Amino acid sequence: MTDRKKSNGENSPICIMCRRSFEECRQGFPIGDGSELFICDRCIYRMADLMGFVEEPKGGKGKKKVAPFVPELTTPAELKAFMDDYIVGQEHVKKVLSVAVYNHYKRLKFLANGGKEQDVDLEKSNVLLLGPTGSGKTLFAKTLARKLNVPFAISDATTLTEAGYVGEDVENILLRLVQAADYDLDRAAVGIVYIDEIDKIAKRSDNVSITRDVSGEGVQQALLKILEGTVANIPPKGGRKHPDQEYIKLDTKNILFICGGAFVGLDQIIRRRLGHHVVGFDSVSEPLLEQNPEDKQSLLSLVQPEDLMIFGMIPEFLGRMPVIAGLQPLSQEDMLRILTEPKNSLVRQYQALFQMDGVELTFEKEALELLADYAAKTGMGARALRAEMERVMLDLMFHLPEQKEKQFVVTREWIEQRRKEA
Ligand code: ADP
Repeated sequence: MTDRKKSNGENSPICIMCRRSFEECRQGFPIGDGSELFICDRCIYRMADLMGFVEEPKGGKGKKKVAPFVPELTTPAELKAFMDDYIVGQEHVKKVLSVAVYNHYKRLKFLANGGKEQDVDLEKSNVLLLGPTGSGKTLFAKTLARKLNVPFAISDATTLTEAGYVGEDVENILLRLVQAADYDLDRAAVGIVYIDEIDKIAKRSDNVSITRDVSGEGVQQALLKILEGTVANIPPKGGRKHPDQEYIKLDTKNILFICGGAFVGLDQIIRRRLGHHVVGFDSVSEPLLEQNPEDKQSLLSLVQPEDLMIFGMIPEFLGRMPVIAGLQPLSQEDMLRILTEPKNSLVRQYQALFQMDGVELTFEKEALELLADYAAKTGMGARALRAEMERVMLDLMFHLPEQKEKQFVVTREWIEQRRKEA
């Protein structure tokens, strides 16, 4: 099994140490005579290095470079098909993201295969997602990481402050990624980081120059380096960095950063800009403003970096976020689909839970419509679906182990009753 061979990925053997599939490795060395188990070239090199068997080449600087870990290249169509299994709607964002992610890892593969950075002028494709809460921003990042089988970490921009102030250093974002990679720095170096609530570190317009804006602009500044690519010093136990500490060093140039935020009020800024253009006889924006004066989301899809600057994001930050996509708010119809269609939909999850107690659970269509209705009205996006479901199912779940009936049908009336009691 020493040469790479083509196989269908899913059933391919995996390295018993780093769990990469055979397709992702340059070479694999079989264990025993079983064809399903192997150790990859990288892990063998790392073990040999740890045990002191790797010598420095004569006259050369440093040790022979081990092949960097590069996730298997997945085409935009494959990525989108995978997202379709878990994410309802948001077709445009799926397309934008699948192309951005494909390009990101394609660039990485090119470099890993000996290509020189200066030969191609490819930017890193960090992504900025704009969309209301609960519309699936985190789900997008999580789903992509799952398909690519790379480490994934989520951070909240509101916990960060610039160095020297109370709060978390931006390097803690990377510590989470290193932990998600089980401290395998090669894997962490190609992982995906999702930074939530990025709109909360917008520069405040009321900020007077003599008072330092530690929670807004300062954090954006602090993020710049890791977003672009730097060898970051990560405090191994998190918290604040201090001079006598040993750091984990992680190169961030191949980490894909996806930042997300609701950007409440951005629609107004875009509207103002478009309105201004209308005066200047802009033929595109005029009909849009007239047809959809209330359609905030159509406006979000027309966002330009200048709008985000007015919102309070600094130009240097935006320069490191070349891909921007706006998510649609979820309608009642979307909520209904989310309840049933994704591979891990709530309905399927509850059915599986009931099945484990030998009870067959079914939902009438009208019951699901009612749940979707309630959730759509909360303004919390699809997150409200789980809350609604938990609320009505609690009692039933409590008595499930003693349940005599082997079938249970959830009706609209039953839900209405439960909600009155809850
Ligand atoms: P956000 O990050 O935009 O606030 P999340 O990605 O955390 O929202 O979504 C909240 C929950 O709603 C997720 O757990 C996910 O299951 C569900 N969800 C949101 N949008 C979708 C969608 N388009 N398709 C399927 N599930 C969704």
